[in-house]
Amino acid sequence: MAFGICPRLSHLSLVGLILVSAVSACSSGRSTPGTPAPATTHGSNPAPAARAMAVPSLAGYDLALSRGTRSRTGAPGPRYWQQWADYKLEAELNPVSKRLTGKGAITYYNRSPDTLGTVYLQLLQNIFAPGSRHNTTVPWAVEGIELGRVAAQGKDLAAVGGEGPGYEVNGTIMRLRLPKPIPPGGKAEFAFEWRLRVPPDGAPRGGQDGEVYFINYWYPQMAVYDDVNGWQTDQYLGTAEFYMGYGSYDVSLTLPAGWLVTSTGTLQNPGDVLSGQTRARLDSARADTGVVHVVTDLDREPGRSTTRGTDGKLTWRFHADSVRDVAWAASARYLWDATNAAVGDATGDGRPDTTVIGSFYRPEQTVSHWDQSARYARYSVEFFSKYLWPYPYAHMTAVDGPTSCGGMEYPMMTCIGGQWDTLGMYEVTTHEIGHMWFPMIVGSDEKRFAWMDEGLTQFDQSQSMDEFFKGFDDEERNRKGYLDLAETGGEVELMHHGDRYPNYSAYGVASYYKPATVLVALRGVLGRDVFHRAFVEYGRRWRYKHPTPYDFFATVEDVSGRDLSWFWRTWFFETWRLDQAIDTVTTVGDSLEIGIANRGRAPMPVHLVVTRTDGRADSLAIPVDVWLGGAKRTAVRVPREPAVRSIEIDPAREFPDVDRGNQRWPR
Ligand SMILES: [Zn+2]
Repeated sequence: MAFGICPRLSHLSLVGLILVSAVSACSSGRSTPGTPAPATTHGSNPAPAARAMAVPSLAGYDLALSRGTRSRTGAPGPRYWQQWADYKLEAELNPVSKRLTGKGAITYYNRSPDTLGTVYLQLLQNIFAPGSRHNTTVPWAVEGIELGRVAAQGKDLAAVGGEGPGYEVNGTIMRLRLPKPIPPGGKAEFAFEWRLRVPPDGAPRGGQDGEVYFINYWYPQMAVYDDVNGWQTDQYLGTAEFYMGYGSYDVSLTLPAGWLVTSTGTLQNPGDVLSGQTRARLDSARADTGVVHVVTDLDREPGRSTTRGTDGKLTWRFHADSVRDVAWAASARYLWDATNAAVGDATGDGRPDTTVIGSFYRPEQTVSHWDQSARYARYSVEFFSKYLWPYPYAHMTAVDGPTSCGGMEYPMMTCIGGQWDTLGMYEVTTHEIGHMWFPMIVGSDEKRFAWMDEGLTQFDQSQSMDEFFKGFDDEERNRKGYLDLAETGGEVELMHHGDRYPNYSAYGVASYYKPATVLVALRGVLGRDVFHRAFVEYGRRWRYKHPTPYDFFATVEDVSGRDLSWFWRTWFFETWRLDQAIDTVTTVGDSLEIGIANRGRAPMPVHLVVTRTDGRADSLAIPVDVWLGGAKRTAVRVPREPAVRSIEIDPAREFPDVDRGNQRWPR
């Protein structure tokens, strides 16, 4: 609010002129610059220069606006619609053959205004099929998904091309030509039987290492049909992640007795599968604020951790609602820690809610601090529930998986593999748990807009680490990651399909470091309060829905009341770099004139702090408008007295400037 008590730089908002303006400095008592006056608000006629900074339009989005499924405020439109599917899945895992056999039925609800004669499903396991296309390393000679039966609307379909009912598999996408089209408001039943071999360690995001099984992307899943793009049928190639629709799941998983199983969803039959001792300890974890060892090293056998089962097997049943996927994990070697997290009022009944926190890991993984995992997970869930909105699901469980999991998010689950120190373990745990909000709850298209889930989560991770480690500056690490690549010129813009980056570092910077850094810059432009309100409002509007980048942009403009097209254009559509410099400092009468150069192409407001020998720190903000007409230099005047000790641009380091060496005077 520093600028609130200062005179406005009103004449600086004239676009396209290089102005020297006399500014009466005022003391703020703090060094954070305030928010400059709104430039042009949304809906008014932008100045010509602002129009030149317009955001490229997206055909499908403009059509969605005109049809009323999206709105100019960034909220879902009055005619927004979204598909839904109910899944009933059964699988049996044979740890000897490492094979999974599955059977499933899907009821697909067509809530679109379109008649669908064809539907698409994802067979993501086909990234492991012989001869598959992929852009990451995958284990050699695994298998894809082997379909035994494919049926639609009560009719078995054959794998044939051409016209008429049938199905075709192309990589990770299956196309079903239906016996009868599904009208708007109608539904259709599909049935499948399949087998797959769980891939070994080395498989991206899951698999098995002989001891632990993390089962992901294991069933035929409806592709997304949305109001902007229709069917999204992009292949799963390994680098870019996913786009999934919402639905409910009933899942039955059969494994040897004595194996512990954890899955997306709520366990429906604890009395059938968990021993009395395990259930009692789990109950105490629901109430206890400490971490309860539900299954210890001494308990891991049928009759102790689990019941004995029938023929040495147990069937675990889970139910999940409003999730975009189901993943699960199983091992005979897992320990199980549990506690609970306070999430605030998740159900909206005015009373506080809790969720169960779980951690499944092998005893030797204490080397990677898995004995702290439940505590880290609880802290993360509680942090994000306060920072964003209450965690809505029944549990959040961290799972020790094959090394190639790295860190990967699934609804209510994370798979974490590899070796970690405590900093890294907290970081990966909180990052993956952060993904419960983006993209598990806010269901964006991760393939085409990786920044929408990774960038937002990387930013959220930094907030969580700052609080957990009491001031740890993770934002600085993100900024450095971005600037290091930006300085080489190897950067690619954020609005770029995740599978079309020239290399992994360009993908990583554009998906993680840069968007996280850009959000910090946006926070600097808007001020913390407005930024946070806009950020949470975007999430609130798009919970369990499918936002595009334009819905994010429009929501931020709607909440802040500002036209930020220059910001979106600069940071999401271009690779323009920011380089603001103090060019000259000269005495003019009783003033000091500070000449500021914009040496990069990125236009940003200038946040100046003038520190005087009496200790006063005056904050000045020069609106971005000075640059929008192409000016490369501007100047401001401040009183000469009391004597100026130093002048610095953006001492709070909110903006990712490529050269900090020219931002201080004296140098
Ligand atoms: Zn991530």
